[in-house]
Amino acid sequence: MRRQHDMLDGVTALTLPGGSVHARCARWEGVGRPFSVTSVSTPLTPGPGEILVRVDLATVCGSDLHTVSGRRPSPVPALLGHEQVGTVIGVGEGGPRCVDGRPVAPGLRVVWSVTASCEACDRCRRGMTQKCRELRKYGHEPWDGRAPLTGGFATHCVLLPGTAVVAVPDGLPDVVAGPASCATATVAAALDAAGPLDGRRVLVAGVGMLGLTAVAMAREGGAHVVAVDPEPGRREQALRFGASEVRDAGPVPQEVDVALELSGHSRSVENCLLSLAVGGTAVLAGSVSPGEPVPLDPQSVVRGLHTVVGVHNYRAEHLQKAVDFLSARHGDYPFAELVGGSYPLDRLDEAVEAARSAVEPRQAILPGA
Ligand SMILES: [Zn+2]
Ligand SMILES: [Zn+2]
Repeated sequence: MRRQHDMLDGVTALTLPGGSVHARCARWEGVGRPFSVTSVSTPLTPGPGEILVRVDLATVCGSDLHTVSGRRPSPVPALLGHEQVGTVIGVGEGGPRCVDGRPVAPGLRVVWSVTASCEACDRCRRGMTQKCRELRKYGHEPWDGRAPLTGGFATHCVLLPGTAVVAVPDGLPDVVAGPASCATATVAAALDAAGPLDGRRVLVAGVGMLGLTAVAMAREGGAHVVAVDPEPGRREQALRFGASEVRDAGPVPQEVDVALELSGHSRSVENCLLSLAVGGTAVLAGSVSPGEPVPLDPQSVVRGLHTVVGVHNYRAEHLQKAVDFLSARHGDYPFAELVGGSYPLDRLDEAVEAARSAVEPRQAILPGA
């Protein structure tokens, strides 16, 4: 069999005769079972509006851990992974474009949204593209042997029409750009929902990957940031990401204008609601799996003119904001330290295990290694 090598960005992509690409995926086989690495081939030129990307680095997100441990229902088998950065190697007909309008072309480094939406249904038209009636989610779809490249834990991913694609500037390292497509963009959406931040007191509850990102983004937005987390190591990190105050638990003594709940713990949600000043907004974004109900005192919401808003995933503009923020500010905060490890695809089980206990909130997979 004759093989040829395409050089892109100085990195070799293996292509097969007939214009197809040899790809490998780490398929999730269910709770308690190891991932299995499977080979597939995919056309170098994908379908209309689609983009073929070589995945350069993927990170293990907290929701991947929820899936693997069975806390979040997910189809089996499946290809997980939805935080990643890659290089475009094939572009389908129709000239897909990045969020900023530039054409998607081979060689371009990109990140892409967790969701692909139809952009035509009632929810998409109302700006809730992440709740599209025809929604597809990377790293969440059931395994489809005819079109398996739907997640980040693979050497390649096929991006569907309706995916937000954002070009990654040269100076932004893969290890910092990887989490943009889930953690950073979700924080951008949460802060968007919080309203103006300049001069406001902002509580960030839960300072893992999202929380530390939120601390830095809110600080850059001009806020006085109070970070709350039971773990001393995380509180220390929050200070390095720009928090003005850190606390271990409970409602904060001085009320806040904005409370961002990112831990998903019911007690923390309650504390956020109890910490709001008059006119304050609580943005709940951490509660993504079932938890204990939280008492709500309607009188304090009414008399306090409070707003409580839920944020899940994000829209295209938030992914652009995430990349713009990281690109401008990653040198000012230790974002690169938040991602540990560098595991090849066939050691994904080890990476997941490490992600459960490591100091760093993310572990990196290098699918091409
Ligand atoms: Zn839609
Ligand atoms: Zn995620």
